[in-house]
Amino acid sequence: MSPRIAIIGAGFGGLCMAIQLERAGITSYTVFEKAGEVGGTWRDNSYPGAGCDIPSHLYSFSFEKYASWTRRYPGQPEILGYLAHCADKYGVRGKIRFHTEVSAAAFDGGHWHLTTRPLPSGTAECAQPDGPRDDRPVPGVGGVRIEEFDVVVAGVGQLNRPLMPDIPGMADFEGVSFHSARWNHDHDLSGRRVAVIGTGSSAAQFIPPVAGRAGHLDVFQRTPNWVIPKPDAAFGPLTRLALHFVPGLQRAYREWIYRYAEGTLYPALARGWSEGLLRKRALGHLRAQVTDPGLRAKLTPGYPPGCKRVVIDSKFYPALTRPNVDVVTDRIVRITAKGVETTRGLRAADTIIYGTGFKSTEFLAPIAFTGRGGQRLDERWKQGAEAYLGISVPDFPNLFLLYGPNTNLGHNSIIFMIECQVNHIMNCLPHLSDRGPMEVRPEAMAAWSRQLDVAMTRMVWGNGCRSWYKTAEGRVTNNWPGPTPLYRKLTALPPLPAYRFG
Ligand code: NAP
Repeated sequence: MSPRIAIIGAGFGGLCMAIQLERAGITSYTVFEKAGEVGGTWRDNSYPGAGCDIPSHLYSFSFEKYASWTRRYPGQPEILGYLAHCADKYGVRGKIRFHTEVSAAAFDGGHWHLTTRPLPSGTAECAQPDGPRDDRPVPGVGGVRIEEFDVVVAGVGQLNRPLMPDIPGMADFEGVSFHSARWNHDHDLSGRRVAVIGTGSSAAQFIPPVAGRAGHLDVFQRTPNWVIPKPDAAFGPLTRLALHFVPGLQRAYREWIYRYAEGTLYPALARGWSEGLLRKRALGHLRAQVTDPGLRAKLTPGYPPGCKRVVIDSKFYPALTRPNVDVVTDRIVRITAKGVETTRGLRAADTIIYGTGFKSTEFLAPIAFTGRGGQRLDERWKQGAEAYLGISVPDFPNLFLLYGPNTNLGHNSIIFMIECQVNHIMNCLPHLSDRGPMEVRPEAMAAWSRQLDVAMTRMVWGNGCRSWYKTAEGRVTNNWPGPTPLYRKLTALPPLPAYRFG
């Protein structure tokens, strides 16, 4: 009998898992999705200018050749369209319980018990797949159910919960404010006095369109980023036809982009031969796009390139040189009713946009996972999250993570990593039925952690900058420190030696 599988999240990870199960003929799964549509981070981040800085043909599933990419780098609507296409083509949409939140998951008696709750806004739009067996309503609690599964696959992502900064006075602001991942599309920015806090990859993308619309824009930069150009262009009709119809061309193009990123960017992050080249390229880009020496100085980072995620964008710097834009580097003291107060006084604003990133190190939060013997995952991960291959955690049998700890990349496509993880899980599933729940051995976990620690020492992320890659204490919990072919190799190994059963 096929195991009953709960997949949490219908973004790239959850959809990839569901699709591979369908392709393997396993249909005993349910996908839980809080929102009313697939897409994950690409559904939530709908800010103007949103897109991906990894080329379209690599930022997609290896098994799903797509004819509709219109440009080298995909915009957010295109990525969302791609994911909807995949969900429909592979027949997984009917298995998604939209507007359903998983708030807790407890391993008990050899099974996982998920606490699920329909979210009020969307019950009418819910797809209604076959319900899992053995679900027990909880009397007296509106819509809450305890549902039983054999396996849980968590595909909730690393960048799913917006981080609002802790700046005094934020509640006093009398204008309109919102986070970049919860864009207020009803608020017209034309002629407004806008303050943007943050200058990461998200802000770099939305600042150009905001600058073009606002009356005045103050960009509050705490730390400058390394920025390299994004050689974006629309595909001509001939290129699109060729990429679709010439046998092997799309695959070869994808492979070329992958190898290029791996061969040139990864060595820079490992402080190898291309670090100097990356620095040179970024400084050349800054010189070419910003002529004012004062502004250039403000925008020049004082830490090694790659320590924070490198911004890949050709429109960001030109936006900062517009006459209606100021880059403010004075420290923010507080938010007042009328704007943002810095050490040099008040900068008036009627709109504040927080481009302040995500709660990236709180993996799986706010879902309360309880494993064997009542162990809580958030307690286990107090000093920073860790998982074998970024996928499995001792004492949490039959729980598999997608895009888990130490699987993020600063140089290549995360979809590649997700496919490796799904492959590993698919290799585990056949071992489940006869031998009981499977759980990674503590010694395999310990060896994995030791290897990560050693590999981490040569990477650029450790010192010299603050970033979403690491905890407040400085432990890098998010990034994979090796080349991605190595990760593919490790996740493709037969899983059994690292796991135990029962
Ligand atoms: P982020 O990289 O974490 O940037 C957050 C920004 O907010 C930083 O500039 C940070 O300054 C600033 N900030 C945070 N708290 C602040 C405070 N209290 N006062 C002043 N400034 C504050 O977040 P993000 O831009 O949303 O990007 C997150 C990640 O999403 C990216 O690194 C990337 O991996 C992904 N992303 C990818 C794409 C793509 O094209 N593939 C596009 C967008 C996002 P400090 O630097 O000083 O901390």
